[in-house]
Amino acid sequence: MSREIRFYNTLTRQQEAFHTLEPGHARLYTCGPTVYNVVHIGNLRTFLFEDVLRRTLQTLGYRVTQVMNLTDIDDKTIKGAGAEGVSLREFTDRYIKLFFEDIDTLRIQRAEHYPRATDYIPQMVNLVRRLTANGHTYVLEGSTYFRIATFPHYGRLSGILLDEVKAGARVDADEYEKEDVRDFVLWKAPKSGEPSWETVLGPGRPGWHLECSAMSTALLGESFDIHTGAVDNIFPHHENEIAQSEGATGMPFVHTWLHAEHLVVEGEKMAKSKGNFFTLRDLVERGHDPAAIRYLLLSVPYRQKLNFTFDGLAGAEAVMRRLDNSLRRLQHTPPATGGGSLAIADVEGFESELLDGLADDLNTARALAAFHMLLTRVNQALDGEGIAQPVRDRLDDAFGLVQRTLDILPARQRAADDGAQINALVAERTAARQGRDFARADTIRQELAARGIILEDTPHGTVWHRQ
Ligand code: AMP
Ligand code: ZN
Repeated sequence: MSREIRFYNTLTRQQEAFHTLEPGHARLYTCGPTVYNVVHIGNLRTFLFEDVLRRTLQTLGYRVTQVMNLTDIDDKTIKGAGAEGVSLREFTDRYIKLFFEDIDTLRIQRAEHYPRATDYIPQMVNLVRRLTANGHTYVLEGSTYFRIATFPHYGRLSGILLDEVKAGARVDADEYEKEDVRDFVLWKAPKSGEPSWETVLGPGRPGWHLECSAMSTALLGESFDIHTGAVDNIFPHHENEIAQSEGATGMPFVHTWLHAEHLVVEGEKMAKSKGNFFTLRDLVERGHDPAAIRYLLLSVPYRQKLNFTFDGLAGAEAVMRRLDNSLRRLQHTPPATGGGSLAIADVEGFESELLDGLADDLNTARALAAFHMLLTRVNQALDGEGIAQPVRDRLDDAFGLVQRTLDILPARQRAADDGAQINALVAERTAARQGRDFARADTIRQELAARGIILEDTPHGTVWHRQ
């Protein structure tokens, strides 16, 4: 590949040059939503980091195969379906549909595969059988557990130390804290009111951790390149996935582990259980622009916490308006007749800095700073000698690159609809002025001002921007 990508690998605790196992093909597994509720913008921050990851890999020349699982069976989905008295399928179908609507609203590109856990029960059973054959399991009261003492690497990802006192103790819940490191459940004995499958392991249902090991292997192979999630997935979820997959196959499971820091609210992780969350729908209903939300969530590199505030969102909206204005000013200004004040080399320098930023462990802040610098130079050039046509063509390519990687430019449709109407009024005002009908020209200026549109009469004609 022409540009080296560096990632901070949680497993080795250092930045490393990225190489794929299969030349030119990046295979990644991104832990997806538990579909018992509408996702919140904290979840979406993680899915957005994964979106930039796949876009960066593609832009830098890799073919990408991304798998994002849909956890449609676990403690939470079962509880939710039970509370409503509907089937698990009916309950989770509803939230899967809403999940896809949300990621589309946020311009998150679709992965190649969205496996549902309940469609992979035979693969999960098979994985447990392989673990049993390798001496990693035991059965107690109809449930099968992973004995962590049989896996010497247990704890390598999260850095936990095995506490001998707890050896042999078990945990049945899908989620638990580091202090509770114990043998964990692979296959759970049936309970009344819970769905269960008749299998060679006996009747029951899978534990959450088993699901991701089985689905990743089924779709990406026994060893693949990248596995991601947010930091809360490191322990126990990803630690357990490594134990299950490597315990069964004897092969290294994943080369590079990437973990996003949390979206926080007043210092606390945004979480459904805490009630301190916002959904994308909440924010859009309050009139916030999804493109600005995307911008806000990308403005802080993924390995740093991001504190969500409405002031921060208003700041992102102001940035979007500035972007919109700069782009429209460029669009409405005729090309320079001479050489102009912006060079092709300036545009190429920007593209290079954008890609260097993304290749530097997905440093979105650096990539965005480069883009703002470019727009500053565009504005300066428009104040000066203008921009010649060949440079404008290169700028169009550069904006295309921004869209392919970050996808933060204002929604074209909205700007186009509204813009066409404003352009018509501006043209009418110009005609009125030419016909010396200054009263009409003034009325139009005032009407536009009331809509927050400011006119500027320049030697190249009238340009407009939003307040
Ligand atoms: P869940 O639906 O709870 O399985 O979460 C889906 C993804 O969102 C997982 O990768 C979580 O680690 C991640 N996640 C949950 N809460 C947050 C948060 N506050 N900020 C960022 N990512 C989160
Ligand atoms: Zn997972």
